[in-house]
Amino acid sequence: MIPVGFAYERPSSVDGALALLAEHGEEASVMAGGHSLLPVMKLRLAAPELIIDISKLSELSYVKVDGDEVAIGAGTRHSTVERSDVLAAESPLLAGVARTVGDPQVRHRGTIGGSLAHADPASDLPAAVLALGGTVVLRSPRGTRSVPITEFFTGVFSTAKEPDELLVEIRVPRTGGAGWAYEKFTRRANDWAIVGVAVVDGRVGLVNMGQTPLRATATEEALAGGASIADAAALADQGTEPPEDLAGTKEYRRHLARVLTRRALTTAAGG
Ligand SMILES: Cc1cc2nc3c(=O)[nH]c(=O)nc-3n(C[C@H](O)[C@H](O)[C@H](O)COP(=O)(O)OP(=O)(O)OC[C@H]3O[C@@H](n4cnc5c(N)ncnc54)[C@H](O)[C@@H]3O)c2cc1C
Repeated sequence: MIPVGFAYERPSSVDGALALLAEHGEEASVMAGGHSLLPVMKLRLAAPELIIDISKLSELSYVKVDGDEVAIGAGTRHSTVERSDVLAAESPLLAGVARTVGDPQVRHRGTIGGSLAHADPASDLPAAVLALGGTVVLRSPRGTRSVPITEFFTGVFSTAKEPDELLVEIRVPRTGGAGWAYEKFTRRANDWAIVGVAVVDGRVGLVNMGQTPLRATATEEALAGGASIADAAALADQGTEPPEDLAGTKEYRRHLARVLTRRALTTAAGG
């Protein structure tokens, strides 16, 4: 499939990218790794008039400790997140989840910012950032604002980001030695998750269990109230609206969410 024709710009700075976004707004699409945008364009589900290529902006690629948080540049590739010593020490869930995204080729092109901005509820990293209780930082010529991840995802492939805003940074708390686990259930190695469950510090993020990544709040509340892992995990699908497709029925996904949550909580607890 061939996409509709488009113009192409490769700005040399974030400010240059923001100026182009301000000028072209909804007619433009930012391209980071291109691993979600280009397939969507080839299917002609998107037809931006201008591609703003930010893949070479090194100022968007970093992982650093900043106070009691880790700051990750939006252009940081999955492979860098996966191998980051800072994340291994300070937020190992994120590194562990990045390791499960697609295959090495995908991880060498795809970026954490692209994954969050694309807002596919079947993606791995959005649920991990949700479980971590992170924040995203958005910049436009109007200024910079921070949005809690709990308010960022507004629907399938849709977020609170305005058309002239660039996602520049993801911030997650330093969880250090807190127990964590990611359970990703796939039909074949390297596939997208049929269901995924990210656990850290008593918080539970669900992949592919609704229109957006979700928190298993009933499970979290039960754990906080002293319930056993088995009893808390049995509530993991409460409040979810899982999709139904060739990979599984709604009921199958609900079952997976409960089983994977039990496994992830057990692993995170050192079991
Ligand atoms: C074969 C294959 C397998 C995959 N398997 C998985 C998987 O198992 N799990 C998984 O989670 N993902 C998977 N992916 C998706 C992959 O992780 C993508 O790379 C990622 O979802 C998007 O990141 P990107 O940098 O490629 O974004 P792009 O494709 O460049 O952009 C995606 C969207 O985000 C916007 N965008 C990107 N960066 C920014 C920014 N900084 N600010 C504002 N908007 C921005 C773009 O305009 C576009 O709308 C797979 C992809 C492929 C091709």
